Parts: sequence; C-alpha cells; structure tokens
Amino acid sequence: MLDSRRKAYLEAMGVDLYVRRDSVAAPAAPEAAGITPAAPLAVPLADGGEVGLHWEPLRSTVSACTRCELHRSRTQTVFGVGDRRASWMFIGEAPGAEEDRQGEPFVGRAGQLLTSMLKALGFRREDVYIANILKCRPPGNRDPKPEEVAECRGYLERQIELVGPRIIVAVGRIAAQNLLATDTPLARLRGRVHALGARGWPLIVTYHPAYLLRSPGEKRKAWADLLFARQAFARLEQGEQVVQ
Ligand code: SF4
Repeated sequence: MLDSRRKAYLEAMGVDLYVRRDSVAAPAAPEAAGITPAAPLAVPLADGGEVGLHWEPLRSTVSACTRCELHRSRTQTVFGVGDRRASWMFIGEAPGAEEDRQGEPFVGRAGQLLTSMLKALGFRREDVYIANILKCRPPGNRDPKPEEVAECRGYLERQIELVGPRIIVAVGRIAAQNLLATDTPLARLRGRVHALGARGWPLIVTYHPAYLLRSPGEKRKAWADLLFARQAFARLEQGEQVVQ
C-alpha cells in the first residue's frame, strides 16, 4: 500500500496512483549493492594539473578553483552532496542562484521536485549522490560554455570514480549532451542505457526538474525514465548487460 507521503511524492511527479510498481524490482540499498569505489586515480585537467586523489583534497581543490571565468561571479562552489558510496548518481547542469547561495546542488523549487522524484523511487536524498557538470554558477543561469565544461570535467570524473555508482542519471539536456558529447536532442537520448566514458558507466537520461516545473505535462515521461532506470538497475544487479 502507498502511504500518504509516497502518494504526495508521486502526485508531485504527475503520476496516477494506479501506476504498477510491482513490475520492477525495488532498488537495493546502496550498502547492499556491494559496490567498491574504484582505486584512486589522479585525473589530468586541461592545463596538465591533477585533481586531488580523495574526497577532501578534491573538495578543497574545487573550492579554490579559478580554472574558468565562473570563479569571478560565484558566491561559492557547489561541490556535490549525498552518499559517497551511492549506487545511484544524479548529475545535473550547473548551480542556479539558490544553489550558489547555499552551496548545495538541486535546492529551491527544482531541487524540491528532484527530491520528490527520488522519494517516488524510494530514495532519500542522502541515499544517492548528486552533482553538477559545473561547480560554479553561470551568470544569469546561461548555458555552460564548452570551455567551462572542459575545465570542470575532471572534477566530476573524479567524483564518479570515487563514488563508483552502479547507474548514473543525467538530469536535463545540458548534462546529458555534455556527458555524452553529443548534440542529439534529449528526447532521442531517453529510453536507452548509454555507456559513459572509458569505464562505460551505465547512464540514462531524463528531464531537468526546472523544465518539468515549466512543462508539468512532461512529468509522466520523467517518471517513465526513472522506472526505466530502476529496471536497468535491477538487471545490472542480476549481472545482465544493459548498455545499448
Ligand atoms: S566552474 Fe569548475 S572549472 Fe570553472 S571555476 Fe568553477 S570549479 Fe573551476
């Protein structure tokens, strides 16, 4: 039975309560997934430098970073939040005004909707790891520039290596296209499991909650993406090959 809070989360996602949830396996708790983060590796950046090997050196390096112009206008860097050994990792675009103020990704209205999306899946925010492709806010919330993404990418790659997720969800067009190095429209990136980077991290794509707030009719598609991700995760846990 759905409890009242779960119902509220599903309703926030625009999901009718008759949606069958017994057709897919529930995600395993991160600690039950037996994931061991990859061995530490230094990640080279564009100028030949390297990011720190572990979480705290990495966080310190990011907080002092001046590799691109965005450092001039930020209030603070927005590193990432959540379980550093999570099985699920959600990657968005860049901090907005509220994230820049609070130093945490996905806060404000869009963040609240992401939290509802996670809870509809059966997660608390702290069960997953959440980060952005950029750690500093682009002025006026403009799209990230390619050179900014390139300069910042090593940090995210290192975060992915340290977390060692079983599945990654790219949240929104900007994140998806930059991670997958493609200009294919988001609609055509949905519904399949991509391989991210040399390690082939399984990655699925869904809409950004800020877009869903503007286009609530698309929430059902986002819910379908999350169910698809949950099915892919369950198949991964069975040792199946899901990357297409
Ligand atoms: S966006 Fe990334 S590369 Fe640019 S200053 Fe911020 S942390 Fe450094």
